[in-house]
Amino acid sequence: MEKKISLLREEFRTDLAGVRHTKDVEQLKIKYLGKKGLIQDFMVFLKEISPEERPGFGKTINELKEEVSSLCEQAMLTLLQVEESKSIASEKIDISEPARKRFLGRKHPVNLLLEEVIDIFSGMGFSVQYGPDIDSDYYNFEGLNYPKDHPARDMQDTFYLSPEYLLRSHTSNTQLRVMETHTPPIRIIAPGTVYRNETISARSHVFFHQIEGLYIDKDVSFADLLATMREFWNKLFKMNVETRFRPSFFPFTEPSLEVDLRCTSCGGSGCRLCKQSGWLEVAGAGMVHPEVLKNGGIDPEVYSGYAWGMGIDRLALLRYGIPDIRMLFENDIRFLGQFS
Ligand SMILES: [Zn+2]
Repeated sequence: MEKKISLLREEFRTDLAGVRHTKDVEQLKIKYLGKKGLIQDFMVFLKEISPEERPGFGKTINELKEEVSSLCEQAMLTLLQVEESKSIASEKIDISEPARKRFLGRKHPVNLLLEEVIDIFSGMGFSVQYGPDIDSDYYNFEGLNYPKDHPARDMQDTFYLSPEYLLRSHTSNTQLRVMETHTPPIRIIAPGTVYRNETISARSHVFFHQIEGLYIDKDVSFADLLATMREFWNKLFKMNVETRFRPSFFPFTEPSLEVDLRCTSCGGSGCRLCKQSGWLEVAGAGMVHPEVLKNGGIDPEVYSGYAWGMGIDRLALLRYGIPDIRMLFENDIRFLGQFS
């Protein structure tokens, strides 16, 4: 019996010397300590041996059990440490590996240009004001001298949200709000998004961006308006740009005019951009109508003023040589990534 036990002990030691992984140790525990394991098998001999020998035999079996169990635990701990350090080693950072490309956000071309325009007018003493995108018919039309049945309303296809409220069709909705809350001299610009129910094409969209200008003080004249417009275009294009003023009509200005620029693409000889005319329409302007001043709570006998509105998107097309206004709003980062 003693010999059988010592043979089993030797077999276990040989097996233990061969373990390489924690799962080998698990197998070993099952083989020797399991319910149908080799040590348990010895219990059948209990019946065969004499009652005097039984306690000694039981003690030897228990000692073997404890020895096997303790050696298995030790082996397990050692192997766990080895496996952990191996997995840490495999996580090592390779500093020679090339970096992954990161995408940096850029400003939208319309915003880039808008910042430039704001910068120029700020330098001329204009401060920035913002009006709401959703406004009442009064601020967008009626207060600006567009009576309900006025045919000029047909000039702009407006998105009405209700009989009273609409998506503003121009940034001019800011004019009365500023007049109501400020006392002259007023010298502001108001950039923003405007909405019109137009057919989307290379040259027009259902929403676009305008910048409004308004200057009200004593003795503001038509000559001041022309000078401000000229000065602005020269600064924006960093050269003397030829400007042309044509009589026009807007209900909220009198007299009204359109501002044209000598085509920056062909220099006036005629090209696709200027539709062979040699000129580009860039802004509408005029002297603030006395009715509008009155609606804003400003005495037209004492004060006068000028206002203008220009499309920023159209300007962005000019500045960056973009052929189609739709490209500005398609969110294609391959396109947008080109501007900085
Ligand atoms: Zn041209």
